[in-house]
Amino acid sequence: MNAPVLETEEHKALRAAVAALGKRYGRAYMTRVVQDGGHPDELWGDAAKLGYLGVSLPEEYGGGGGGIAELSIVLEELGAAGSPLLMLVVSPAICGTVIARFGTEAQKREWLPGLADGSRTMAFGITEPDAGSNSHRITTTARRDGDDWILTGRKVFISGVDIADATLIVGRTEDARTGKLKPCLFIVPRDAPGFTRHRIDMELQAPEKQFELALDDVRLPADALVGDEDAGLLQLFAGLNPERIMTAAFSLGMARYALARAVEYAKERTVWKQPIGAHQALAHPLAQSHIEIELARLMMQKAARLYDDGDDMGAGEAANMAKFAAADACVKAVDQAVHTLGGNGLTKEFGLASLIVASRVARIAPVSREMILNFVSHQSLGLPKSY
Ligand SMILES: Cc1cc2nc3c(=O)[nH]c(=O)nc-3n(C[C@H](O)[C@H](O)[C@H](O)COP(=O)(O)OP(=O)(O)OC[C@H]3O[C@@H](n4cnc5c(N)ncnc54)[C@H](O)[C@@H]3O)c2cc1C
Repeated sequence: MNAPVLETEEHKALRAAVAALGKRYGRAYMTRVVQDGGHPDELWGDAAKLGYLGVSLPEEYGGGGGGIAELSIVLEELGAAGSPLLMLVVSPAICGTVIARFGTEAQKREWLPGLADGSRTMAFGITEPDAGSNSHRITTTARRDGDDWILTGRKVFISGVDIADATLIVGRTEDARTGKLKPCLFIVPRDAPGFTRHRIDMELQAPEKQFELALDDVRLPADALVGDEDAGLLQLFAGLNPERIMTAAFSLGMARYALARAVEYAKERTVWKQPIGAHQALAHPLAQSHIEIELARLMMQKAARLYDDGDDMGAGEAANMAKFAAADACVKAVDQAVHTLGGNGLTKEFGLASLIVASRVARIAPVSREMILNFVSHQSLGLPKSY
């Protein structure tokens, strides 16, 4: 009997190749980009040329024909090098996947080649100020006007809207205004009249910015609707499972980056007879972080495998658990890394302290750790709901 293969030789080769690209950029590059208020265009361009951005998109539309397993490897390795590309989570993973699975032929031809070669990007907007974690409460509403759609609503914390050519907005149709969410998805071009954005001043130091969006009677053509207005949650989850898997990859990359810096430092820094890494008070938490990272990656690989094999339901539980485990592993690894460096953990020179904020993101977004615990309580364990 063949042993189960976690990663194929191709996957390993992809990891090594992306890691080599990441090494050419690294955290110093990302820090410079953030300081200059720019975007990681050079890294994005190089990753695009090497086919990494579109690795999960179908070959017939310019992609690599792989899956979320491959795309998550790309993001994890770039993150482990200190230069993650957050837009991979939204542009190819959510928007590309939803369009590839549910878009019309025309939408696929219009968007997928650009998303695959990185020349175009798409942001994703579901969160609303008055709904937050309760997406059943979103009120962004689409009404028909002849063949057109008129979209009205508010969104908050939407990443990368300034650089994205369009945003995939989750709304609901007028006749499905209340009750359980029956979402429908619209491609809203960046400069559509009535579509305005306001940058949120975040503590987070990252090149991708977050925005509050207003949609005031935004007129969209009939073909702005992706998929079926009645297909509802199924379509949405086609994008949300990859989002969770990719958020796990993002967290694992950052966790590995922080852990590696701490281990390097702990091997060198000597204040008694032995390097500080010989003290178990420092060594054990680092070892534990390594274990937690490996465990979270296992769950991410499981989720990606289930998703890529077409098991959306099975992937849902695994993707949530992977995101939960990776986010927690990341918060702990970063915390321990900062601590391991003593005073240097808080210096600009070593650049770890700003990761304390960055590492928290995945505990909150795209779905908070409490909402994952709720999901597991209700869906996996059958416990009653408190809300
Ligand atoms: C950096 C960043 C980038 C983001 N990018 C995007 C993006 O590109 N697109 C997008 O659509 N959204 C984005 N978001 C939004 C993100 O998905 C939301 O912040 C997240 O879903 C939580 O919603 P909220 O902030 O309104 O928190 P709330 O829903 O107000 O939750 C606040 C707290 O209450 C807890 N809570 C709420 N309900 C329950 C419950 N029933 N049981 C137990 N605890 C509960 C939560 O766990 C949380 O700790 C981003 C957020 C951040 C921080």
